Amino acid sequence: MGNPLAPSWLSVPADLNSFDASIWPSSVHRAENGEVRLGGVAVSALAAEYGTPLYLYDTQMIRERAAEISRVFQDEFARVGTKAKVYYAGKAFLSSDIVHWMLEAGLNIDVSTGGELALALAAGAEGARLGLHGNNKSDAELETAIAAELGTIVIDYPGEIARIQRIAALQGRTQGVRLRVRTGVHAHTHDFLATAHEDQKFGVSLREVPALVAEIRASENLNFMGLHGHIGSQIFGAEGFAASLEVLLEMHTQLLEGGDIPELNIGGGFGIAYTEADSPMPIAEIAATLADALASTAARLGLATLPTIALEPGRWIVGPAGVTLYRTGALKDVELETETGQKATRRYLSVDGGMSDNARPALYEADYQVRLAGRSSTAEPVLVRLAGKHCESGDIVVYQDYLQSDVAADELVLVAATGAYCWALSSNYNFLHRPAVVGVADGKAELMVYGETVAELLSRDAGLDRRSTAAAHSPNIAL
Ligand SMILES: *Cc1c(COP(=O)(O)O)cnc(C)c1O
Repeated sequence: MGNPLAPSWLSVPADLNSFDASIWPSSVHRAENGEVRLGGVAVSALAAEYGTPLYLYDTQMIRERAAEISRVFQDEFARVGTKAKVYYAGKAFLSSDIVHWMLEAGLNIDVSTGGELALALAAGAEGARLGLHGNNKSDAELETAIAAELGTIVIDYPGEIARIQRIAALQGRTQGVRLRVRTGVHAHTHDFLATAHEDQKFGVSLREVPALVAEIRASENLNFMGLHGHIGSQIFGAEGFAASLEVLLEMHTQLLEGGDIPELNIGGGFGIAYTEADSPMPIAEIAATLADALASTAARLGLATLPTIALEPGRWIVGPAGVTLYRTGALKDVELETETGQKATRRYLSVDGGMSDNARPALYEADYQVRLAGRSSTAEPVLVRLAGKHCESGDIVVYQDYLQSDVAADELVLVAATGAYCWALSSNYNFLHRPAVVGVADGKAELMVYGETVAELLSRDAGLDRRSTAAAHSPNIAL
């Protein structure tokens, strides 16, 4: 039954009607009639009320994961005599509900642009609970951040020290800053997701650090909070984080000669499972490994007092809690020949969204899992490629997975683990409107972000406005 076009990691599932708990939200299950429920709400009801495509979150799960990652790092770091300070990396998915839930769970929030900062502030976050990143912050972004009394701003390049000093001085404020460093640790992930090797745009080289920290310390309106390193995203093991932590802690120790440093920020990047091929290390084990690395490195360096360790998980918190609901349409079987001359068929099943609501397959060749959502079926498994409706052959939502062979048009399907970097990277390509975001829990659905309408997209066209105004004033102009 296996299709020769299937990659070796993809097995033919024993039961296509069940949900793998390591990939799907725990509240996803199939009701007796075969229909899928999420957070106690039937997908057909959600599709009827909000349309498809639709981003869905198990909101209970978001809150639990925020509390869990915070707790495991607090516990493990307490064991070696220090504290954890957790920031949610807002760029993974940001809405005012998320801001509230993160703050309630005791987390802080990282933003990386003026837009994300505006949302966090509008949601009522205190500046002290926010951090600002970015490799090219504008004066306006820095002015807003400093005026909002942001806890920390991460300095990304040498020239930014003087810029932040100047703006802070103008406002008569002292601004907490971190310095982002390339630790040289190469994360085992997609090249576009690795951020600590030398030849890339983020941070400063380790060699430059002592002189730059001296400059920060000599700046009257800056308060040096510590070093920052972020090795990349969707990282499964603990070695990369531990190796980076060691490099950072060595530099941190060297810098203590010039004065106290309260914190050390090791970034985010903890991986999640998108398919059965992914087996990320449990977060508690990562926390334990990092705590051990902290203790042993500190002992080696003769460091008596450990800094508070800041972390910035994004994907890990929201990714597994989100799924996308689509409606299927066009179906075609494409006859192919494998490299070894075997005949094979690939079934292309198109859905009503695509790269505009999930850019990750096109950007990173990301894999996903899909399941039939509107009903169950005992038909035999067939390899499918779930395609979008955009005018690009690279517009794929799920490169390969098995679905029941009786899958047809006008069916509801769910794609797993779309909670991080899907809505955040969404676009209006081909004039598709961005879908709504709906949270479900305890049998209730609540809109988190309105979906767009085509009328709203048209309303941004200035030419349409201009011509209709002109037409209203001079009826001779033909439209
Ligand atoms: C994107 C980013 C994160 C979060 O990464 P995840 O993989 O979502 O955990 C943390 N810190 C920085 C600086 C980032 O750019």
